[in-house]
Amino acid sequence: MTVPGGDVSGRGPSGHDFDSVFLRSDAFFVASGIPAPAGGRSLRVLLVATDEEDAARLRDLVAQAQVRVEVDWAPSFEAGFIRMTSSRYDAHLVAGRLGERSGVDLLRAYHDAGGEAPVLLLNGSGDRALDLAAMESGAAGFLAKDRLDAELLERSIRYAVEARRQAIALRQAREELQERVEQRSASLETMNAALAAEVAERRRAEQKLRDVDRRKNEFLATLAHELRNPLAPIWHATEILSRVGDGEEDRDRAAEARSVITRQVTHLVRLVDDLLDISRISHGKVGLRPERVSLASVVESALEAVRPLLLSRRHALNVALPEAPVVLHGDPIRIAQILTNLLSNAARYSEPGGSIRVEASCEDDAVAVRVVDSGIGIPAAALPHIFTMFSQVAEVPGLEQGGLGIGLTLAKQLAELHGGSLTAASGGPGKGSTFTLRLPVEAGAVVPPEVRTAVPAAPVPPQRVLVVDDNVDAARILAQLLALDGHEAHLAHDGPSAVEAARRLRPDVVLLDIGLPGFSGLEVARRLREEPSLAGLFLVALSGWVQPEDLVRSREAGFDHHLAKPVDVATLKRLLARGDATPRTT
Ligand code: ADP
Repeated sequence: MTVPGGDVSGRGPSGHDFDSVFLRSDAFFVASGIPAPAGGRSLRVLLVATDEEDAARLRDLVAQAQVRVEVDWAPSFEAGFIRMTSSRYDAHLVAGRLGERSGVDLLRAYHDAGGEAPVLLLNGSGDRALDLAAMESGAAGFLAKDRLDAELLERSIRYAVEARRQAIALRQAREELQERVEQRSASLETMNAALAAEVAERRRAEQKLRDVDRRKNEFLATLAHELRNPLAPIWHATEILSRVGDGEEDRDRAAEARSVITRQVTHLVRLVDDLLDISRISHGKVGLRPERVSLASVVESALEAVRPLLLSRRHALNVALPEAPVVLHGDPIRIAQILTNLLSNAARYSEPGGSIRVEASCEDDAVAVRVVDSGIGIPAAALPHIFTMFSQVAEVPGLEQGGLGIGLTLAKQLAELHGGSLTAASGGPGKGSTFTLRLPVEAGAVVPPEVRTAVPAAPVPPQRVLVVDDNVDAARILAQLLALDGHEAHLAHDGPSAVEAARRLRPDVVLLDIGLPGFSGLEVARRLREEPSLAGLFLVALSGWVQPEDLVRSREAGFDHHLAKPVDVATLKRLLARGDATPRTT
């Protein structure tokens, strides 16, 4: 390649050979404190100068240096540029003037092309403008040709090389540091994000716990309130009963007091039953007793249960069932329980004198039963939560009887146990509510004949009954009730005296509480079953514990029946009538 003023080989126009000017002096590096080039190699320097004499003089100066320096010469701007950008030199010595161009231009062009090796500019002393321009353009040094000696030249090259090496090392260290900082920042960011997610998760869990705790506390408060509520009217009603005389007005008062007690006790029993059911369902212990049952009969028994409430609140009731009989496969008591729940809510959450509609329609292989009321309605925001346990929409003023916030949870779970569903809809506050119960129907089933459950009560022959309960009041009242029906009732209040009384009295029936002082009712039953003189004894457990495992235990102990407390009079009568105890005539 030919360039003006010389060629790229480094030979000047006159053919001078500047290659291989080697001088060795590693002592220089030791003395100057500047690290020697790695591996003790010589320095490679490119000299760019158009003036052959300048070039020769510099070569002479370099030759006097104490270190080994290899000098290439480029005799023009262009040749210099090509060499500078295509070969790797440790440093460049560039003349201030290169024909038409300046050494500063070359320096800038070199830097623009990404060159990094140091460039020392050479010029006559006093050329201050060039000196400043060189400095501004990033020259590693500016040397006055006429004051230059070997030592200054050599030292300038060394310092420039080392300064550049250190600058590059510094930049690399900075870049590495930067990279490490970025990596660390990225990993910190990741950790931070994970931490933030964890904190958010923990907050959610804490909030959930707080909600559960709040709902539990609210529930306990509501429970206390709801259990206490019926006690006042019962108390007052008993007070009235103790005071009434024989007059007609008093008889009416007594009748009213009795119906108050019946209503309130029924309500209490329902609350407790719901509580037990919820606990059983959540432990997966509710077993359905499915059978073929007509929709009309379960609707009828639900209506029977809520009729007093509907009447007391003067609601108009409208029932529209499909003309064709609909047969369900389900537990009639549980389905009626769901509907009772919906109907009693409809009655309680509607102003007195409202209207309630029960309608059913068949949809494919399901029947949809809707309980529609004209009541207070449900705000849209509350709708998704009403099936959650213990959840209640804000208190409703004027409600006769509130609840525990478990009725709908129970109803929904019972519906789902039947393979059905329960949903709610409302136009909002004041716009009434619609609850839809969907249940699968039996395909092509024949409707069983309606069975009326009201069995005429057979007269029960008088029997000797031993009532055992550590709750003295409960035992005495039950004994009195039995006495009213003509039975001979005896009392015992603990395990040992129950066994002793049974041996002595040889009763036909023992109504036995399970939790007793001394030893339990189960133990009493076992001992009585071992008594030959008591063969044929009719043994009935009366207990607050009616979980399936309680029933198994009482059967194993020898009981004939296991009834939940409080036992209603009709059940007791039926049981005594059915009992295979021989009526006593004495
Ligand atoms: P509660 O014992 O409080 O009635 P439920 O589980 O039966 O418990 O009902 C939960 C809540 O849903 C009620 O407290 C009431 O706010 C709302 N709710 C239920 N049925 C109706 C209805 N028919 N109309 C308006 N609100 C209702």
